[in-house]
Amino acid sequence: MNILVLNCGSSSLKYSIHELRSGKQNASGSVERIGEDIAHCANHRAAVRQVSETILGDGQDIDAIGHRIVHGGEIYSESVLITPQVEANIEQLGRLAPLHNPAHIQGIRAARDCFPGLPHVAVFDTAFHQTLPEHVSRYAIPTALYEEHGIRRYGFHGTSHRYVSERAAEILEVESITGVTCHLGNGCSAAAIQDGKSVDTTMGFTPLAGIPMGTRSGDVDPAVVLYLQNEADLSPSDVDRVLNRESGLTGVSGVSNDLREVEEAEGRGDEGARLAINVFAYQTAKAIAGLLGTLSNANGIAFTGGIGENASGVRQRIVNYLQGVDVVLDPTANGRTVGREGKISAPESGLEVLVVQTREDEVIARDTFHVVQRDAGSSYASAE
Ligand code: ADP
Repeated sequence: MNILVLNCGSSSLKYSIHELRSGKQNASGSVERIGEDIAHCANHRAAVRQVSETILGDGQDIDAIGHRIVHGGEIYSESVLITPQVEANIEQLGRLAPLHNPAHIQGIRAARDCFPGLPHVAVFDTAFHQTLPEHVSRYAIPTALYEEHGIRRYGFHGTSHRYVSERAAEILEVESITGVTCHLGNGCSAAAIQDGKSVDTTMGFTPLAGIPMGTRSGDVDPAVVLYLQNEADLSPSDVDRVLNRESGLTGVSGVSNDLREVEEAEGRGDEGARLAINVFAYQTAKAIAGLLGTLSNANGIAFTGGIGENASGVRQRIVNYLQGVDVVLDPTANGRTVGREGKISAPESGLEVLVVQTREDEVIARDTFHVVQRDAGSSYASAE
């Protein structure tokens, strides 16, 4: 069975094709800068059409399509077949994820036009975190704001945290893991996993919260937002731009959102670059320590994402800030584990530290396969 995985981001479309029985990824590619002036594609609809022409031109057969969906709100705690009702819900949840869910909807509609009659499955970034207890998910703001507007902590990167926690359990040869998974890429989040279930996470109502990221601030005092609007004359969309696109590694270093470039600048003696990496490493350490403190009998910490999988120097710096936590890295193992899976903690470390390569697309393909197998016969066409 060939599964096409579509990931419609705010301005890009990534795709990959997976053969489920062999577990092989057959092809992958992307369309970037959708909707920008210099772009070849005006919107996601055109981008999906372009991708479908490439795939069909290569003579690839597609049996089902898995869509990565950022926001599933409180409705979805697992992947589902996309019916007209599901589509309407995803569209409605666009108010919580205005950059993403509308792009997903365009992607779903275009894919249905290009591949008529095939089953489509939605795999949600929020689903894995639907096990957060209420006292964790709720903010200490008036209950009416939760009831009327759905303002609560949802959490994101769930597909990655789910895969990494399952893989970590396999590596440690335990039934399920209790520990902290850290997805450190362009976006960054950590999750507390108790017996394989997500019980807390650093991202919140939106993916802006928590650890600082490539261009996103992570947590700031909420009064900063009011100050910027009231005293610094920034409009709401200016504040949005500052916190989402001009902060994080970019904002502090003034160099780049790409850690490799920030590390290079630090190597040349750039003080802003050094500070940016330290701010990032410290806030990540603080998040890990806070999450670990709420877990009972934690086995370890797992790093994933472009930074977590590759940046051994940053991993070491994060652990250096974990002064009160019983964790020690093996410097040789840490230095060697770049772009591959492995254990990087020293034998005397109380907690195991692992590097796991995340495979979000593979999880989406597997989920799509299982949902189609389970719900075969109730595909979009027959549900209409
Ligand atoms: P996304 O969240 O867009 O999927 P990635 O998971 O690919 O992003 O992570 C991108 C981040 O990983 C960038 O900051 C990049 O600099 C960093 N990164 C990738 N490879 C390396 C490396 N070899 N050393 C240090 N950082 C790296």
